[in-house]
Amino acid sequence: MKNEYLLLTPGPLSTTETVREAMLKDWCTWDDDYNKEIVEVIRAKLVALATTSSQYSCVLMQGSGTASVEATIGSAISQEGKLLVVDNGAYGARIAQIAQYLNIPCHVVSPGETSQPNLNEVEAALASDPAISHVAIVHCETTTGMLNPIKPVAALAKQYNKTVILDAMSSFGGIPMDIADLGIDFMISSANKCIQGVPGFGFVIAKRSELEKCQGQARSLSLDLYDQWHCMEVNQGKWRFTSPTHTVRAFYQALIELEQEGGIEARHQRYRTNQTTLVQGMRSLGFEPLLSDELHSPIITSFYSPTHSDYQFKEFYERLKQQGFVIYPGKVSNADCFRIGNIGDVYPEDIALLIVAVEKAMYWNVQ
Ligand SMILES: *Cc1c(COP(=O)(O)O)cnc(C)c1O
Repeated sequence: MKNEYLLLTPGPLSTTETVREAMLKDWCTWDDDYNKEIVEVIRAKLVALATTSSQYSCVLMQGSGTASVEATIGSAISQEGKLLVVDNGAYGARIAQIAQYLNIPCHVVSPGETSQPNLNEVEAALASDPAISHVAIVHCETTTGMLNPIKPVAALAKQYNKTVILDAMSSFGGIPMDIADLGIDFMISSANKCIQGVPGFGFVIAKRSELEKCQGQARSLSLDLYDQWHCMEVNQGKWRFTSPTHTVRAFYQALIELEQEGGIEARHQRYRTNQTTLVQGMRSLGFEPLLSDELHSPIITSFYSPTHSDYQFKEFYERLKQQGFVIYPGKVSNADCFRIGNIGDVYPEDIALLIVAVEKAMYWNVQ
């Protein structure tokens, strides 16, 4: 089964036929064939992709990526704790919103959607508010495509002895990093982003010592990160409640395919080439990216919408879809944009074809 169109979206994204085929079998949620040979292998492979340190472990969690973020925020921060969150886009804002729902005190650093956090402001907050116990930041802010300066922010947090939570949802698997070197305590990502699996679960890669501290702290039963981890540890890969077996099997296949591609380094190169090919091609047609090149991730790119009065996103979208490409609406609040993802089973040749399709879809330019 071939797809009718290529998803140029930040997840769910275009997957390979072989990843989709891996779902054509039923699995028993507690059988060894599933737990030991799939779930445990996935957990070990994910830790190895995240760090060379042996201090980390992995928990898989049902739900979309947000469920794993909520499980982490709701389990890692104690009743006395307080969160500092960097919010320069919808996903940073979502972390603050989760804290609000869970009645967790929260200090928000908001540089605006097109700027990076001011390190002096982060440090001032850490220095003046000893109640802050945790610092959360998004790696690639998918709202704009911005890559946040996680290294200096995590270093500051460590200097003040805080626990660091990283939302690397849209970057993990597509951008090389070692979370131990960076000083990250909890890193969150999900199945349907750069590992190129299908949606259904997220995962948290965390220091064992930090996971231990989560015991008894969760504010939700189904999102109890410690309990889920403990169950997987003690029962070798068993999930507490029904696991998304088909999705997990597809994810296993996606991990094999990441290895076959040459690992994260090779995937990163492909995404970068996609992104630079895209920006170059779009510029040649008169489009400008929202962010300057140095702020950009290779994950997704926001472009200003044409200012022509005949332009409507929906019409542009439909014309591209008819030609086999699905793009993404904008999410930036103070600028009219649309977004094009560079991740998934997408190659520079596809991007070259997209540019031809965009030119044909520019109906507002036709007299
Ligand atoms: C995709 C994404 C999430 C999670 O979104 P879900 O819709 O819940 O899967 C969180 N943070 C970032 C940065 C993302 O890109």
